[in-house]
Amino acid sequence: MRTRKFEIVIKNAGLVSAMMIASGSMAAESASGYAPLSIPFEAEPVSVDNVYYFAGQSGVPGKQNEGFTANAGFVITEDGVVVFDALGTPSLGAAMIDKIREQTELPISHVVISHYHADHVYGLQAFKDLTDAQVIAQETSSVYINSPDAGQRLEQRKQALSPWVDDNTRVVAPDVTFEDETSVESGSYSFSIVHAGPAHSTDDSLMMVQPAGVLFSGDIIQNGRVPYLASSEVDTRNWMEAIDKVREMNPKILIPGHGKASENAMEALNFTYDYLAYVREQMGAAVENWVQFEEAYAATDWSRYEGLPAFDASNKANAYRVYLEMEKAALGGS
Ligand SMILES: [Zn+2]
Repeated sequence: MRTRKFEIVIKNAGLVSAMMIASGSMAAESASGYAPLSIPFEAEPVSVDNVYYFAGQSGVPGKQNEGFTANAGFVITEDGVVVFDALGTPSLGAAMIDKIREQTELPISHVVISHYHADHVYGLQAFKDLTDAQVIAQETSSVYINSPDAGQRLEQRKQALSPWVDDNTRVVAPDVTFEDETSVESGSYSFSIVHAGPAHSTDDSLMMVQPAGVLFSGDIIQNGRVPYLASSEVDTRNWMEAIDKVREMNPKILIPGHGKASENAMEALNFTYDYLAYVREQMGAAVENWVQFEEAYAATDWSRYEGLPAFDASNKANAYRVYLEMEKAALGGS
């Protein structure tokens, strides 16, 4: 899908007038429809104009953070607002819309989703209720949406995040899906959306914003932290190919799915790429030489990663997943 600019212009013209009529009732609906937040919640600018993000708190979603544990962001173009991720409760989604409205009256045209995990998508409900934004996600998001996991997670969050997640909370499916990559043009901005999964989840996607040079990476690129590869379907080759694609676009600023934004996106991309390459190289050699996993893991020099956050929690499981992935590839001849 390539959204043509003239379509957005026409659509937005209609929306602006619709919004002017509806704006009086919109604020009231937002205030009454969702449990209000009591945590601090601000849109933080980055070092280029018109790009903002919401920096989630660390820790697991709970009453102390009201479900605000992931990041989300938005870009204001000449024609509208493109949002990346929707946060972990409908209340947070509504709060995002309020903060966007403090910056601009332009319509919110798109919400792009990094992956369908609860902390990134429950806010979509507010965008569906309060805006005409089109929700874009990678097509395998349907696997999660239709899985028992999605329902179980929602039940768990109703307990952990009441009253911000309640019986009215629903998982909103995307309006538009893509397979490998897609793009959105809005004003003078171009948004390239690239599937990188299965990595952290099947539908992991990155969004590169040009000419701003901002990469929204979701949960798969983090700054100086060992990534988590221990998902049963992880495909490190796809992940590396996706990093290659966004690296070519030379991003300057990284807005990750969790944690602070970084002014050195290439460093974070290279770090993740090199880690994936190293684990693949070591485990690939072990598979080729019929070396058992435990022996191969013990014989590998991990010194360059040992001191980093999440090494102890993730590295061995990561290596094992990659070992299985490479074994499967060797047996399957791919
Ligand atoms: Zn997350």
